Amino acid sequence: MAELYDFIENLWIIDSHEHTVQEVERVSSEADPLQILLSQYASSDLISSGLSLEDYVRALNLNVSLKERWRIIEPFWDKAKNTTYFEVINIALKDLYGVNELDENTIEVLSEKMKAVNRIGLYRWVLKEKAKIRISIFDGITDIVDVDREFFAPVVRLEDFILLRSREDVRRLSEATKIPIHSLKSLESALESEVQSILNKIVGFKIALAYRRDVHFEKTTFNEAEKVFNKIMGSERTFIRYTSPDGIRLTMSDEISVEEARPLQNYMVHRILETASRYRLPVQVHTGLQEGNLNLVSNSNPLYLANLFMEYYNVKFDVFHGAYPYVRELAVLAKNFPNVYVDLCWLHAVSSSSAKYALNELLDMVPANKIIGFGGDYKHVEGVYGHSRLARKNVAEVLQDKVDRGRYSLEEAKNIAKMLLYDNLLEVFKLGI
Ligand SMILES: [Zn+2]
Repeated sequence: MAELYDFIENLWIIDSHEHTVQEVERVSSEADPLQILLSQYASSDLISSGLSLEDYVRALNLNVSLKERWRIIEPFWDKAKNTTYFEVINIALKDLYGVNELDENTIEVLSEKMKAVNRIGLYRWVLKEKAKIRISIFDGITDIVDVDREFFAPVVRLEDFILLRSREDVRRLSEATKIPIHSLKSLESALESEVQSILNKIVGFKIALAYRRDVHFEKTTFNEAEKVFNKIMGSERTFIRYTSPDGIRLTMSDEISVEEARPLQNYMVHRILETASRYRLPVQVHTGLQEGNLNLVSNSNPLYLANLFMEYYNVKFDVFHGAYPYVRELAVLAKNFPNVYVDLCWLHAVSSSSAKYALNELLDMVPANKIIGFGGDYKHVEGVYGHSRLARKNVAEVLQDKVDRGRYSLEEAKNIAKMLLYDNLLEVFKLGI
């Protein structure tokens, strides 16, 4: 039994998805434990448990003492610490800093320990020595391509070309691409020029539009998209931002609604996929649960994407988060379409038991080369580490169970583990490592 666990524990892995703050930025910060650990996920559960936004903001304010900030957080921490987000944090704090349980005393100890290691070398220690991650695919949200190549290989979202809603948006894009954009045609040229300029730096594209709208991108004509573009450019509303004498910032926007701009978004998503097809770039897509509070999960059902999977049959789609809770829908899509991959990134941290359940079922249903077993999806390396430990444990437990039941031999199980945690990403993203 120990053999498979040992094998998976010691395996070098590739990580499908990170938003990690770059090391130079991290080491120049205060390394405040609450600012770091509550920059995502656990904070959403604290808010879900009842923490007010005002108190959350105050708990991250460095002008307030750490003890006092912990006192704000603690009652909600106790209410929410049953979730896997907190398990990830606990694993990291215990293994990296020797802190077993956070309370009003250990928060100070943790703070000192985090400050002590907050220098260049931190990422090599956590990501390489401790987490044994060969490389992570990096989604900088705003299209950052100049990342530390020792740790990261970037994808880009190109959302500035999709989510145009105002003349001001177009002006900013013109400025960034240095191409005057005054027609849908010139917007397309700007996209092409942008992609060409970053082509040798990226390993794929990312679509994360499920945070803004549903992910059904209907086939839309040039004409329909052009009408939206022209409406944006012909608007007689103006973009004004000024601060009134009493300090209130006012913004008047020339924006049209996301709904109204939909034909243009659909059209540009199709252009981006056409580009992906031309340059043979894989595309990562967010589906399922959105991070944060108050978003609408039904927007992110992977079944909405079927038309894209069909039309762009030679583009490899790396579909995120097991589409949780639509994991069965995604399993069926991945079983049917050779170009659709199921990616369990974030999922082991969202719910450890759901990730195990999903993986168990996926292995009965989808060829192993189509399952991507781990992506951390953290801004902080502590989360990446804790999550990677949990993912290794889950993969080992699911595979061991199948070995025990005589379904796979030990050798087959080891081979599948390596495919899920290393080989598949290497192949899909042609990572030159
Ligand atoms: Zn993410």
